[in-house]
Amino acid sequence: MARYTDSVCRLCRREGTKLFLKGSRCYSEKCSAVKRAYPPGEHGQGRRTKPTEYGLQLREKQKARRIYGVLETQFRRYFHRATSMHGVAGENLLALLERRLDNTVYRLGFALSRAEARQMVRHGHFTVNGKKVSISSFSLREGDVVALREEAQKISRVREIISDWRATIPGWLEREEGSYQGRVVRLPKREDVELPLEEHLIVELYSR
Ligand code: SF4
Repeated sequence: MARYTDSVCRLCRREGTKLFLKGSRCYSEKCSAVKRAYPPGEHGQGRRTKPTEYGLQLREKQKARRIYGVLETQFRRYFHRATSMHGVAGENLLALLERRLDNTVYRLGFALSRAEARQMVRHGHFTVNGKKVSISSFSLREGDVVALREEAQKISRVREIISDWRATIPGWLEREEGSYQGRVVRLPKREDVELPLEEHLIVELYSR
C-alpha cells in the first residue's frame, strides 16, 4: 500500500494550520507550524497569490485527508458513501472518517496521534467486541467495544500514554480512567469533530 514517508510537519505547513500529526510535539514550542509559519519548499516565503475557489476546495480536502491519514482513492470512496446516506453529505463524510478504528483508538486516548493509533491497530493490539481487528479503516458501530489486547497492555509506552492522557474523550465514546477498553455510545455527529474543517468545500470539489 502506498504511504506518505516525508516529514509530516511539512503537511501542516502546506495547509497553514496545525493538523496534530505528531503527538506531544504538536503541543510543544517545537511545532514547525508555529516556528516556520509559511509553506514548505524553496519558494515557501515568496509572494503569495490569492487562492482560487478551486484552490480553497482542494486544500480543504487535502487537510481532511491528511488529518485522518487517508489516501485519495479511499477518501473518494468515503465521499461516495457519504452522499448515498441520509443527511448532509459533508457531515456524513466526517462522521464516517471519525468512526474509523484508528481514529477511535486515538480519540479513546490509547495513542498520542492518529498515525500512532494506526500503527498499533496494524500490529494487532486491539479487539472489537472480543475479536482481533488489525484493519485501521474498520468502521465502528454503536455499541462496539474497543479493547487493548492483554499483551499490548504490558507495553510500557502504551501504559505511559494511558496514564498521562489528559484530553477529553468525545461524547460519542466512553472510557473509564485507566481502563483498557472503551465503547461507542452513539455514532459521531458533526459537533463531535472539533477540527478546523469546512466540509462543504470538499463536497463542492467533488461535485464539480
Ligand atoms: Fe503539525 Fe504536529 Fe508537526 Fe506541529 S508538530 S507541524 S502540529 S505535525
